[in-house]
Amino acid sequence: MVKAAILEDVRKLKVVDYPEPEVEPNGFLMKMELCGVCGTDMHLYEGNMKIPFPVIPGHEWVGVIEEIGEEAKGYEVRGQGLDVGDRVVVVPGTNRYCGDCYFCRFMPHKPTLCTGRKVMGVNMTSAEKPHLLGGWAEKIYVNAEKFWVYKVPDEVTPEVAVLSEPMAVSSRALERAYAPGMPTFGEGFGVGQSVVVQGAGAIGLLAVATAKLAGAGKIISVDMVDERLTMAEKMGADHVIDMRQMKTAEERVKEVQRLTNGLGGDVVIEAVGVPAAVPEGIDMTRRGGKYVEVGHYTNPGPVLVNPHTICNKDMDILGSWTYPPTQFGTVLDLMRLAADRLPLDEIVTHKFHVSDAQKSIDTLKARKGIKHALTG
Ligand SMILES: [Zn+2]
Ligand SMILES: [Zn+2]
Repeated sequence: MVKAAILEDVRKLKVVDYPEPEVEPNGFLMKMELCGVCGTDMHLYEGNMKIPFPVIPGHEWVGVIEEIGEEAKGYEVRGQGLDVGDRVVVVPGTNRYCGDCYFCRFMPHKPTLCTGRKVMGVNMTSAEKPHLLGGWAEKIYVNAEKFWVYKVPDEVTPEVAVLSEPMAVSSRALERAYAPGMPTFGEGFGVGQSVVVQGAGAIGLLAVATAKLAGAGKIISVDMVDERLTMAEKMGADHVIDMRQMKTAEERVKEVQRLTNGLGGDVVIEAVGVPAAVPEGIDMTRRGGKYVEVGHYTNPGPVLVNPHTICNKDMDILGSWTYPPTQFGTVLDLMRLAADRLPLDEIVTHKFHVSDAQKSIDTLKARKGIKHALTG
């Protein structure tokens, strides 16, 4: 039997035993090593998203293949081959998008806009066989034909690889700011440019790390929790702005300008998820710069923005909605680069066994730690 934490209903988390599934030719069963607890899981728990209960939450896992079908051995997306004992990460959203919606037909380069997408640990129920379709379980069943599977490079530890999914979100957010790719003329992110990241939770910290690894110049992180500000510095932030010391948006905008020769950040990334951060972030962006919105994955409501500022700055405001499955490849390469440069593994501050998933949720609600992970 395999232990799994399931959401039976809103705020009803239960630990159950599922029978070990039979492995089909195109699938594999993996031992879960670590699975992140993410804001999305908290939203599922609180009932902020409609899902087909029961669901095993968890879409950010790393683990080792225990049993694999013959066909599945050929499905590693970079052509490396898969076998028992391999450490892998899996893109939780299906790779074959629905194929029928407007976006699949007319915008295939933006796969995350598909309206018919299935995501393990989010909207795939554990009611039927093979049951184990989410990360908060000792073992996970993966259909390797339908999901992108990446072998984890040897240099990348499980404590780092578990961040693949959130780092895919963060690195995609920075990559949104690359276009049109003429950094020489101040158009689009480039080597040496300044990046301001609002918020130093997991997504914000990984955005700082990505900016560092991608060759950013000055990196500025804004937050109000000591643990996070310290971590931001470890991830490569040159300056941190403590919101407890600089209490008003005006002061913080001035500070960003002071640190950027009076101009504002070339790129500013919003990773707070609080509406008030948005007008402030727009003010922090230099004229002709780019503002990327990645923090508001759910909907906490509107905010007042002055359109004159946007017009006058001739700036770009870009949304970043999740990431294409190719992003995991980018992330694993970034993690290899980070191996002896940035202590990415320190972002996971708390670990709990799957049977203690509730403890993790309660601890997170008490706002303790940065990133939690469950162990299998
Ligand atoms: Zn997540
Ligand atoms: Zn579609």
